[in-house]
Amino acid sequence: MLRRALLGMSRSQGIKNLLTRLPVTSDVVARFVAGETVDQAVAATRQLAGAGLKITIDHLGEDTTSRAQADAVALAYVDLLGRLREAELTGAAEVSVKLSALGQQLPDGEKIALEHAHTICAAAETAGTTVTLDAEDHTTTDSTLSVLRELRRDFPRTGAVLQAYLYRTEGDCRDLAVEGSRVRLCKGAYNEPESVAFTDQHEVDRAYVRCLKILLAGPGYPMLATHDPRLIEIALKLARDNVRPVDSYELQMLYGIRPTEQQRLVNLGHQVRVYLPYGNDWYGYLVRRLAERPANVSFFARSLVSK
Ligand code: FAD
Repeated sequence: MLRRALLGMSRSQGIKNLLTRLPVTSDVVARFVAGETVDQAVAATRQLAGAGLKITIDHLGEDTTSRAQADAVALAYVDLLGRLREAELTGAAEVSVKLSALGQQLPDGEKIALEHAHTICAAAETAGTTVTLDAEDHTTTDSTLSVLRELRRDFPRTGAVLQAYLYRTEGDCRDLAVEGSRVRLCKGAYNEPESVAFTDQHEVDRAYVRCLKILLAGPGYPMLATHDPRLIEIALKLARDNVRPVDSYELQMLYGIRPTEQQRLVNLGHQVRVYLPYGNDWYGYLVRRLAERPANVSFFARSLVSK
């Protein structure tokens, strides 16, 4: 119930306007967001790379409502990629992109988002790194996978994200478990109806394992995004059972969540990538993190009254 209410809030422009005017800064936002500026994102990336972690950077923003805003997001990514190149961090860091931030919801939005994503992929290729397209709510999945197919013609290493909670995802895993394909598997973070997604967490976990089996048995490059200790254990066992070299897949977690575990896995010789968001438009991202863990809500509420 609380999860659904929070996820509903994450799309509310009114609540967003109210909360982002409140002085909620340091504690809560800083736990999950690496900073507001590109300098802060590069500094946080350098620190994580120094500890042996890999990074995927998200310039925060989603549900763009104007062409100018979409253009600005694309430019921000091109700038970020230039900065990562200058800082010699593109060996460790790539970028994650939400197509809704690039204009996917505008009239003729798929075309606009594709053009912008193409520009970002070209900048990533010049910088020597890759792009992964985040997954958003289920109404965007077909469009996002169609943009992925187009991008992969010119940039075959472009990554996709699949959400285990969607009924369709086992089929999408089969389609994408091919040579050269980079696929991030996550549980899914949006408020989805029973008509398209499992809503029981145990069902989601079972679906995640079925998808793991498909991806880890295939010739692609699986990126296993979860903080769930049991699913990480199962993923590593399946990787061993499939005799996969450690550089043929990676584990992924979010910035600020289970950092000790991230480092422990790196110390054991695993590849671990941290999803690192930065920017001012943190509202939707933060509310999804609150919805994942009720304890975070009281942390957030305390910060509102103590400022
Ligand atoms: P859960 O069962 O939610 O969590 C397992 C344990 O992890 C919890 O018991 C807790 O200890 C810890 N934990 C999990 N979340 C939190 C939190 N917010 N705060 C504190 N502790 C927590 N979703 C999408 O829909 N699209 C995407 O493109 C996408 N990209 C992602 C990229 C990465 C690298 C990761 C790690 C997740 C991404 N997600 C994305 C989010 C994902 O779908 C889940 O909502 C999120 O990862 C929580 O699920 P879980 O697998 O960690 O399992």
